[in-house]
Amino acid sequence: MKRKVLLIYTGGTIGMEKDYESGSLRAFDFGNIFEKMPEMKLMECEVFVHPFAKPLDSSDMGPEEWKIITNYIFDNYDHFDGFLILHGTDTMSYTASALSFMLKGLKKPVILTGSQLPIGDLRTDAKENLLTSLYYASLYENEEAVIQEVAIYFEYKLLRGNRTLKYSAEFFDAYSSPNYPILGQSGVHLNIVKDNLYRDRSETEFHIDNYISEDVLFWRIFPGMKMNHFKEIPKMKVLILQVFGSGTIFSSEKTLEILQEIRNNGTEIVVVSQCISGGISFGKYENSNVFAKIGAISGKDMTAESAITKAMHLIDNPNYTGSFAENFSRSMCGEITE
Ligand code: ASP
Repeated sequence: MKRKVLLIYTGGTIGMEKDYESGSLRAFDFGNIFEKMPEMKLMECEVFVHPFAKPLDSSDMGPEEWKIITNYIFDNYDHFDGFLILHGTDTMSYTASALSFMLKGLKKPVILTGSQLPIGDLRTDAKENLLTSLYYASLYENEEAVIQEVAIYFEYKLLRGNRTLKYSAEFFDAYSSPNYPILGQSGVHLNIVKDNLYRDRSETEFHIDNYISEDVLFWRIFPGMKMNHFKEIPKMKVLILQVFGSGTIFSSEKTLEILQEIRNNGTEIVVVSQCISGGISFGKYENSNVFAKIGAISGKDMTAESAITKAMHLIDNPNYTGSFAENFSRSMCGEITE
């Protein structure tokens, strides 16, 4: 039986070609992808293409577009075996993280990919990324999807979406999953590391929870920063602080005073690390004690992208019981090491 994959094209470099006269990049009509890439017809799966009416640079992708995607997956869930989302690389990790929280009880693959060079470029990485993603999006064993989560495939690696970050604007190998091992790798053979795949053990039927709040702010501290700046920022429901190393910040009285004031105003404070790998461990150094004093929440080894979108999804979400802190600290779909 031929598996069916729904390809949703949102925009980004992958759907562009070079105008060799002017030298500039322009989007091509993605509906014609089969002419551009006749190889796609040789795939063992059937591919149905749904392009966004207006292709977007991924810096224009946000909650509205995430909801368009989840709604579209929901409406088509029963008719397709897998979903492939073509996306600009700049914010792909945010979209992958957000989708992982919004798609509940997922039992089918949702793969995101993009490329560093346009599909119409001679040296493009787009074709390999696209073709192998289609393979992963249609991979079934014993009538069960092998991948049952939101993943990013890029430059020979399949990664858990909510563990990824884009770390290079230059290399083809642009994504990393520093705190979680790869889900699969393509070489001569296309491999899957079964032990690393996510499985939702609850009995949850597939559905979507499109709740997203934009009342979240992310702030990176730096040596010499004036704590008084915090007095100028607007009051937010969640403040994500990106602090040093394993969770340290300035030891001054002022730090405690200002952060306590923010907490007293009803703002949740989440702490994530400026380090790319490893994470927060409160209590390791004296300079993290302030966080315990003010009741801040440890983002542990989450990426910034994942912490931001998880906070957006959880804060004041009526579909959750329990406190924000409890829900945030729990793994929802493998985004945090418990
Ligand atoms: N600026 C582009 C985007 O994120 C870059 C890319 O697709 O690689 O949409």
